[in-house]
Amino acid sequence: MFSIFIRLISILAIISAFAWVMAEFVSETAAWLTVLFCLGFLLFRQAYNLHRLSQLLISPSYGEVPTAMGLWGEVYYRLHKLVKSWRTKLLNIEQQHQRFIQAIEASPNGVIMLNEENQIEWCNRFAEQHFGLDAKRDTGQRIIHLLRKPTFVEYIVKRDYSEPVRLKNMGDAEQFSLDVQIFPYGDHQKLVLSQDVSQLDKTESMRKNFVANISHELKTPLTVLSGFLETFQELPLTKEEQANYLGMMSAQTFRMKALVDDLLVLANLEANPEPPAYDKINTAAMLDKLLAEAKAISHDQHQIELVKSSNKDILGDEFELSSAIINLISNAVRYTPQGSQIKIEFKDQADGSAILSVQDTGAGIAQEHIPRLTERFYRADKSRSRDTGGTGLGLAIVKHVIQRHRGELLIESTLGKGSQFSLLIPKDRLF
Ligand code: ADP
Repeated sequence: MFSIFIRLISILAIISAFAWVMAEFVSETAAWLTVLFCLGFLLFRQAYNLHRLSQLLISPSYGEVPTAMGLWGEVYYRLHKLVKSWRTKLLNIEQQHQRFIQAIEASPNGVIMLNEENQIEWCNRFAEQHFGLDAKRDTGQRIIHLLRKPTFVEYIVKRDYSEPVRLKNMGDAEQFSLDVQIFPYGDHQKLVLSQDVSQLDKTESMRKNFVANISHELKTPLTVLSGFLETFQELPLTKEEQANYLGMMSAQTFRMKALVDDLLVLANLEANPEPPAYDKINTAAMLDKLLAEAKAISHDQHQIELVKSSNKDILGDEFELSSAIINLISNAVRYTPQGSQIKIEFKDQADGSAILSVQDTGAGIAQEHIPRLTERFYRADKSRSRDTGGTGLGLAIVKHVIQRHRGELLIESTLGKGSQFSLLIPKDRLF
């Protein structure tokens, strides 16, 4: 403040001295004109600098500092410094904000930010997918106008957000099951988090179906058995009738035992997800044994052929692989009319892997059933499966076994012509 005062007095003193010189040596009019000119010049300079300042405040420049004499120079310099430091702070905040957004985007959960009116302020990519939203289109919209599921509306209205809520059939294609939870924050704002639990949901419903299926599978033979037992207790039966009924009872018992055996095999396979050891299997010998078993299963009612065009040996679990192939052979026998051909083949593939297949000329399977055949208890031909003692678990076991060997089960079939079930043995399981 003091320095401004000194400057002002100095300027006035210079102008006065100049005017005095003019008055003394030229004329009084020249002196007044000089004073007017100097004051006009000073006024113009102030106006010009004020204009520059207002321009600078409207659109701050981060580059060159505007040059000006004296106090204005100081003002511009300080303003420039201030703008620069604000800019650095702003950039830091922007970077932090960007990093925060990137972190939320990277999380596999959906995130929606709602204001106090439950209008969408922001949502990430996963929230868009989970709830079928479009961040650009739906920002500013009330969430309950977009997510009209009664469970969700009730949840948001009730304001008890201590537990998540499960929403099914969400997303554009209704493909998601979501666990959604709201977390209030800040000034009556809310964070909606969604987690994709579709797989978990699927597993839960598979487990429920599995239990229902087993109960159903066991119910029939148990009902038959208890019926026969009642008959035994209540009716006098001839020896012949007794033998007949006992035969039927033992068939039902056999069916239950086969089911329990298959369930145990599946449970064992599931309990050991690790691939089996790389034990050397003498494949040719194993195939000869399998051929003999195939003939026994068929009671020599089919023409069974074994083709060994690969001389490689397999590294894996012989017991598991043999039971998988026996399952395929047993299916081929059960679904192929007597007298027809069944071919067991082991052959090399161009890429170094090998195929172990069982081919039949039987009933074949309609295309729509093929993708579901390895599901537990899925049957394309229910009556034939049950009539021939099928448990509905055979192909599920085969799939598990070959997947443990890091291979694949390939199914090709034509209705009315026959089927081919192939185990693809990967290169590193051969030697
Ligand atoms: P199942 O004990 O019922 O045979 P699987 O899991 O072994 O159970 O097979 C599932 C279904 O696949 C069978 O019910 C049957 O409909 C069909 N299937 C399996 N193998 C054959 C085959 N070789 N020919 C025709 N259908 C087959």
